[in-house]
Amino acid sequence: MLFPSLFAAIGSCFAQFILAMLICLASTLPVSALQLNGANLLAGEAVEGGVIIAAVPAGAQVTLDDMSVATDADGRFMIGFHRDSPDIMILRVTGADGVTQQTTLGARQRLYDIQRIDGLKSAYVSPPDDVLARIAADADDVKRARTRHDAGGQAGDFLRGFDMPVTGRITGIYGSQRILNGAPRAPHYGIDIAAAKGTPVLAPAGGRVTLVKDLYFSGWTVLITHGFGLNAAFLHMDSVSVASGDVVRRGTQIGTVGSTGRSTGPHLDWRLDWQGRRLDAALVRQQIAVSRISG
Ligand SMILES: [Zn+2]
Repeated sequence: MLFPSLFAAIGSCFAQFILAMLICLASTLPVSALQLNGANLLAGEAVEGGVIIAAVPAGAQVTLDDMSVATDADGRFMIGFHRDSPDIMILRVTGADGVTQQTTLGARQRLYDIQRIDGLKSAYVSPPDDVLARIAADADDVKRARTRHDAGGQAGDFLRGFDMPVTGRITGIYGSQRILNGAPRAPHYGIDIAAAKGTPVLAPAGGRVTLVKDLYFSGWTVLITHGFGLNAAFLHMDSVSVASGDVVRRGTQIGTVGSTGRSTGPHLDWRLDWQGRRLDAALVRQQIAVSRISG
């Protein structure tokens, strides 16, 4: 018996901590434990930053709270959960027979790091008045791009798994509370991958380019829709080799790694969102990989 002797040796306070950890692990539901009424779960889990992918019979309609959720020809759909997801959402599936079944979805909470970044130019932490209009215009353009869901025949290619857009050391993760030059700022929603300036950035799955723009904070940025309401963003690029409206395939070069915008060195910041709800690209990639939806 390892545990009792371990507890005796290290004291009851730490033992309680271990016990709490075990209970916490036990309450982490595996994929199969999430029951959806009226839909089959194909992948994922209701967790902050994650997704569920499920399928309904032909002709069924899906809503999340008051929002209509798009399904593809096979009845597949996706739901994404923001870092600060509302406590409970209602998923309703209405069959072709008019019967509605519902499931309450609550995203499991996660704990997040605090990340301090110093040495940023002050104009990027507290922007001067003369760039506020540009920042507002940037936000409008990004918001509009995220409403474009036509993936140009590449919708759902990501269900075969996401490739990494670039290989390198992970230097930033999803959800970290940011303290920039000592001042608390919004959380970080991307994963940062350090790589040399000029390293090719490849589309991790097929989709359509919805925005190419040099944004104040994000520098040269490319947005891609992958279908199912899922959008990707690639930030701080040195150069861009695609244009808005282009259809890209998995592996198509979209640009090169850089350090444009609010950045302290060459890296790629890769982000995903579902209908504007910020997802954890690393987690979603893992959730899809373990499910093997499309072989
Ligand atoms: Zn970043």
